[in-house]
Amino acid sequence: MKCTRCKETAIVSLPSHNAGFCSPCFLLFFQRQVQKAIKDKRLFTFADRIIIALSGGKDSLALAWQLQKLGYDIAGLHIDLAIPQSSPIARDHAERFCTFNNIKLFILELDKLGLPIPEINKKIKRPVCSICGKIKRYYFNKFALDNNFTVLATGHNLDDEVARLFSNVFRWDEAYLGDQGPLLPDENGFVRKVKPLYRLSEFETANLCFIAGIDYGFSPCPYSKGASFTFYKTLFDELEHKQPGSKLSFYKGFLNRGQKAFSGLNMNRGVKPSPCVKCGYPTSKETCGVCRIRQMMENG
Ligand code: SF4
Ligand SMILES: [Zn+2]
Ligand SMILES: [Zn+2]
Repeated sequence: MKCTRCKETAIVSLPSHNAGFCSPCFLLFFQRQVQKAIKDKRLFTFADRIIIALSGGKDSLALAWQLQKLGYDIAGLHIDLAIPQSSPIARDHAERFCTFNNIKLFILELDKLGLPIPEINKKIKRPVCSICGKIKRYYFNKFALDNNFTVLATGHNLDDEVARLFSNVFRWDEAYLGDQGPLLPDENGFVRKVKPLYRLSEFETANLCFIAGIDYGFSPCPYSKGASFTFYKTLFDELEHKQPGSKLSFYKGFLNRGQKAFSGLNMNRGVKPSPCVKCGYPTSKETCGVCRIRQMMENG
């Protein structure tokens, strides 16, 4: 197969774009997809201070690599979840990547913050992933605001977004559908959140890492087994195989036509939250979710 752009031998085939690329042209393709996402959705500008949620996996590292190449003002924040089977590997990759690329990296350790995920899993009888997600969102947001970052960027890719969209549609969750998208503006004590990789698939970010020589962590979290998102991703992979381009078209269709039907349906949006009585974090209750988790942990 020849490269669609320069006619050299292609090394990546992208049926969803009806194209194939050699290494340099794939890097250009990837960069243009990120630039288009930033421009079309007005995610941020060169004046913004951007903190990237750096898990150490391929998506967050590919995002940091690309935004640095484009000249944005970035730093990374890694949250060490204290999961023995996966956290040291993830952290090591984040640290080595940032050292090699000269990117400032901040690390928060849940162990030191009294919230190690394995302990939470033992003590609290609720799905650990929803608690883990809540804690990560809390600390990413808090860290960004406390340190004057104007944007929090995450490495969510097209597959993540399509799986989330399908899950929200499947449950007809109007509030979540109203809030889903690559840009969540800053309001009421929450920093602006962006997903600049929303046009790129997992396969494409993996290729970016391979071509750019980015060594990413791949030790799976022991609690990830059986997650419904993983199942939805395999469903959509099958669909994509039969009908190339369907993931991007499903998601773009939602952004262009579906999203506005649901916007404003999240009753918590627009309602001014009040500060948590314990930590000051914005919440619709008296104490925020993370303080309640901490309380549950203390009560055993
Ligand atoms: S799989 Fe669940 S517990 Fe593991 S890192 Fe992801 S959200 Fe946290
Ligand atoms: Zn080429
Ligand atoms: Zn609180």
